[in-house]
Amino acid sequence: MTLPPETSGPPLSAAQAILTIDLGALAQNWRKLRHYSTPAECGAVVKADAYGIGIEQAVRTLAAAGCRTFFVAQASEGARVRAALNKQDGYRIYCLNGLLPGPQVFDAFIEHDLRPVIGSRAELDAWIKQGALHLQQMPVALQFNTGMNRLGIDAHDAAEVLAVLRAAGVESKIDYVMSHFVSSEAERDPLNGAQIKAFDLVRNVFAGFRFSLANSSGIMLPQKPHYDLVRPGYALYGGNPSPGVPNSMQPVVKLQAPIIQLRSIEAGESTGYNAQWTAKRRSRLATIGIGYADGLPRSAMSTPEKPGAQAEIAGRLCPLVGRVSMDLIVLDVTDVPESELAPGAMAELLGERISIDDLGERAGTIGYEILTSLGRRYHRVYLNP
Ligand SMILES: *Cc1c(COP(=O)(O)O)cnc(C)c1O
Repeated sequence: MTLPPETSGPPLSAAQAILTIDLGALAQNWRKLRHYSTPAECGAVVKADAYGIGIEQAVRTLAAAGCRTFFVAQASEGARVRAALNKQDGYRIYCLNGLLPGPQVFDAFIEHDLRPVIGSRAELDAWIKQGALHLQQMPVALQFNTGMNRLGIDAHDAAEVLAVLRAAGVESKIDYVMSHFVSSEAERDPLNGAQIKAFDLVRNVFAGFRFSLANSSGIMLPQKPHYDLVRPGYALYGGNPSPGVPNSMQPVVKLQAPIIQLRSIEAGESTGYNAQWTAKRRSRLATIGIGYADGLPRSAMSTPEKPGAQAEIAGRLCPLVGRVSMDLIVLDVTDVPESELAPGAMAELLGERISIDDLGERAGTIGYEILTSLGRRYHRVYLNP
């Protein structure tokens, strides 16, 4: 018996767009990344609602594929991961943003069995003190700063930190010593090598510990800085971890919306707010019920400097014309055969032909932001759970 696909958001009959999330592709991307990273363990970063696709569905799929280690940003997200795993044993959930200041901060970590990624000396001290008050010290990962200058203990303090851990008798509670790349998607950026070198210094001090450095693009670097655990996020969801090289990941999201109405305008007439696009010829326009309130950035409009977003209708790529409205966009469908055009005909804004990387670039941003902005008004269909 095949179950109907899981859905969320407004029902199909009431929604103006359909977001299809292929959980089978997510699982396959994870397996592929694991294969690239073997013998390192392959974790999964599921922060920000699993990059917008739905944290519960993503976590269940990845756990079924064999993933045992999850990363979120915040403890509230960690609680959702723990609940999605039905309190089964054997899964480790790390909170990348670490510990907030204040005494109650440990409550959520204890309640949901989460592990902070300690990112400063103050957090380290708070954690050691907490362990002295309670009998059991929660395991943690230690993050060192090798160049991001965002979170992390200074790499030069590694020896001093190890001494502090030894004095408190808590070295065995450090699961991983980690750091994070600044520009791993730019393979030739010398920062990659510099960070690997800085991390080598930390690894020498922490000999015998386990290490983690690579995000999606870090996995693909020629130096293979995989160590004991890799932490892919973006590539799991279909993003290209190696820009400039054909994407080896499968698309996970597909965004489709029906044409609401069609019209023809004469050369010299414009469409949308502030008349930002003027027809050079008699043009056929299709209006679609997706706008910036659904996560299609206003910056996806074409300008003289860059092409704007596109949608595929009946196999043809149609440019978005004029401004992105809150709830609507207009496509130039002049080159689509009239027989293919009717209210209800489907336009595809993301899928096999149009990638999240492509839309990100056309909107002057990155695919990460496209994913994490995916709207709440879409009818969501989860395939191949
Ligand atoms: C978000 C994040 C990742 C995942 O990065 P991707 O580029 O999405 O693969 C890994 N590690 C840390 C510390 C992160 O913040």
